[in-house]
Amino acid sequence: MRTTPNPLSAVRNLGILAHVDAGKTTVTERILYATGTTRKRGEVHDGTTVTDFDPQERDRGITIFAAAVSCAWDGHRINLIDTPGHVDFADEVERSLRVLDGAVAVFDAVAGVEPQSESVWRQADRHGVPRIAFVNKLDRAGADLDRAVGSIRERLHPAPLVVQLPVGAEGGFTGVVDLVRMRSLIWGDDEGTAVDGAVPEELREEAVRRRRALEEAVAERHPAALEEFCDRETLSAATLTTALRDLTRSGDGVVVLCGSAYRNRGIEPLLDAVVAYLPSPLDVPAVRGVHDGAGQQQRNADPRLPFAGLVFKVNAGATGRLAYVRIYSGTLEKGDIVCDAGAGRTERVARILRVMADRHVQLDRAVAGDIVAVAGVKSARPGATLCDPGAPLLLEPPVAADPVVSVA
Ligand code: GDP
Repeated sequence: MRTTPNPLSAVRNLGILAHVDAGKTTVTERILYATGTTRKRGEVHDGTTVTDFDPQERDRGITIFAAAVSCAWDGHRINLIDTPGHVDFADEVERSLRVLDGAVAVFDAVAGVEPQSESVWRQADRHGVPRIAFVNKLDRAGADLDRAVGSIRERLHPAPLVVQLPVGAEGGFTGVVDLVRMRSLIWGDDEGTAVDGAVPEELREEAVRRRRALEEAVAERHPAALEEFCDRETLSAATLTTALRDLTRSGDGVVVLCGSAYRNRGIEPLLDAVVAYLPSPLDVPAVRGVHDGAGQQQRNADPRLPFAGLVFKVNAGATGRLAYVRIYSGTLEKGDIVCDAGAGRTERVARILRVMADRHVQLDRAVAGDIVAVAGVKSARPGATLCDPGAPLLLEPPVAADPVVSVA
């Protein structure tokens, strides 16, 4: 019997984590551009970026309020949650980490791991958020992928799994060798679309050596891959992809990609990796909550269960007050009465919106696993649980934030 795939398996609730200045806003912009969500590339320096739509953010040039934007890639919906990189906003980082299923950690190819990258990484560890790493700014003078990977290994994770080899360096960085497919991707201009071709002759030996190192690192950590490696002394691209996905989702390895967001190089392979390796809402553990009298309860991402969701951001803008909600269980319909579990108030859902970069799309309903903006729940604050009044549930408070580190 043929089964229809659950559409939730094609959702990625994704965050971009980074030290200030590593390029998080630029990566986000390029993702929106690559996915056709925006037609024009925003530039950080001229204040036209789409996720930073608060004037205060534009003035300060840093991302203060997390914005959730939906975009589509390769049959998948990516809900992009923008997390602040500045240490002054640790609470907001904490709340956005809570609602993510996976993240891309962006590093500067010159600076490598910086203090804030380390503290956000630890927070993500505590929330069990699977990550892939993107070493950005490969076009900069002094950029060095191997050194950046060394700092990831030393300071963050013992198992960086590098799946690309850069073609050219600094100003001459033009592409990557994809070590999983053993093909090259070369960007002829800054529009973001790469030409797929054979591995350049002069890089073939090094690519083979690095592919071997990747296979060994994967086989060391993944039993099925180890079996194939012992039998055939190599790993097929399919086994490698499955093993990289498993290692990413279990947190036993971190896939590393590279590029230059500014030059729009490396964004499409990054999106492919997000879809291939990071989990969907169906692949993450059930959420836990408490309910007076009924004790602890677990809720899966099942649309048939009673509704429960977490407000992680509230935005008062031209469209009125919007509460951004991660739905953990059940189905939320326009007109539903929901209960703010902590405050004990009930309110009516006036509208449910999917926030695209430049517009809102009205929805009649949204199901577990999704992230939407809700109008009408006037009293709900960030951190509030909204739930079905007939099955009240208070989602557990987020784990404690790291003490704010001061950066010299
Ligand atoms: P954020 O603070 O992490 O959001 O970083 P931004 O995206 O605002 O980028 C910080 C600065 O680095 C800006 O001036 C960007 O234009 C620049 N930048 C971002 N990505 C790249 C890149 O790939 N190469 C170079 N050379 N500069 C970049």
